Amino acid sequence: MIIGVPKEVKTLENRIALTPGCTQTLVRRGHTVLIERNAGTGSGITDEEFQKAGAKLVSAEEAWGAELVVKVKEPIPDEFQYLRKEQILFTYLHLANDRPLTEAMLHSGCTGIAYETVQLKDGTLPLLMPMSEVAGRMASQVGAHYLEKSQNGRGILLGGVPGVSPGAVVILGAGIVGTNAAKMAMGLGAQVTMIDINQRRLVYIDDVFNGRIITMSSTEHNIRQAVKYADLLIGSVLIPGAKAPQLVTADMIPTMKPGSVVVDVAIDQGGCIETSKPTTHLKPTYMVDGVLHYGVTNMPGAVPRTSTFALTNQTIPYILKLAEQGVDAVRNDDALLPGLNTYNGTLTCHAVGDAFGMKS
Ligand code: NAD
Repeated sequence: MIIGVPKEVKTLENRIALTPGCTQTLVRRGHTVLIERNAGTGSGITDEEFQKAGAKLVSAEEAWGAELVVKVKEPIPDEFQYLRKEQILFTYLHLANDRPLTEAMLHSGCTGIAYETVQLKDGTLPLLMPMSEVAGRMASQVGAHYLEKSQNGRGILLGGVPGVSPGAVVILGAGIVGTNAAKMAMGLGAQVTMIDINQRRLVYIDDVFNGRIITMSSTEHNIRQAVKYADLLIGSVLIPGAKAPQLVTADMIPTMKPGSVVVDVAIDQGGCIETSKPTTHLKPTYMVDGVLHYGVTNMPGAVPRTSTFALTNQTIPYILKLAEQGVDAVRNDDALLPGLNTYNGTLTCHAVGDAFGMKS
């Protein structure tokens, strides 16, 4: 099959949907890989590396002209012109948030398979997980940075030093983001508390961290107490498909220490802290009641090289199946089936249909 990889054109998006390693795997299996010139630059991958792996360097039109188009972000309006009936598009789509794109995809008749709705039998979302791992690890890292005085933070070192106590990190939600944030915070030497509604997650955390993390069940009382002593509060709660519950209310924020930091990773689902609002990498923080808030909605965008490799490690098995079987791969693979969002002008994802009152 011919596989095309256009350069990402969304503002500040530097990831790419294939690495040279993935390209080599596809080429060795007899496929043709077309990479748009300079598409890997933002992730530190040169055109020469792709050529050595067997790819052909092409224009945007040629990459989009392939039978299977693999991307990272959803097409933006400038790219709608490239959508075609004979095309399989495999990328993050987030259609429920984007009516114009949904209509453009249906109008074009293209087969749209969304990374974020590819789902394993146990309910996990394997193509969302790598970005949650990246965002979770970043949460503690950016939190530590913004606690510095020069960043308007409290002026503390999370790990403390001998004779000076470490900082307190409180993590709401002990899922993928929360667990990865905890690993980094523990590594820095902070004192970590995790709060979750799911007792089995708390048991797991207690086991894997050998009792070195304080676990609390998610009640308003516990959250109110923990927020007070947090130097760094990380929001990482998710109710799949729903808006995040606002567990930390605005009246709790003034009870935090001046200069403490809130990193609400769940902001892409509306945030689990009432005072959170979406921010960008260009202006990541703002202050509320003396507490510094960070609400960047695409945290992995700050580390495109790591994110590109983390994402493609997970997407390549599915790309191989699509390259080998075409649309039939969706029928033959239980995880790819829920990934199908549009097919031949029909909406095939109920959640998107529900969001727009469209038939699916
Ligand atoms: P996950 O499903 O692995 O974990 C969510 C956790 O929240 C679960 O353990 C669940 O039990 C817990 N939870 C649900 N309701 C709760 C409640 N009332 N109190 C306490 N805990 C509760 O999800 P994840 O992959 O860790 O993602 C977390 C959030 O981070 C999502 O909103 C995701 O979209 C977001 N995210 C944001 C970025 C970014 O760049 N900002 C990047 C990746 C992920």
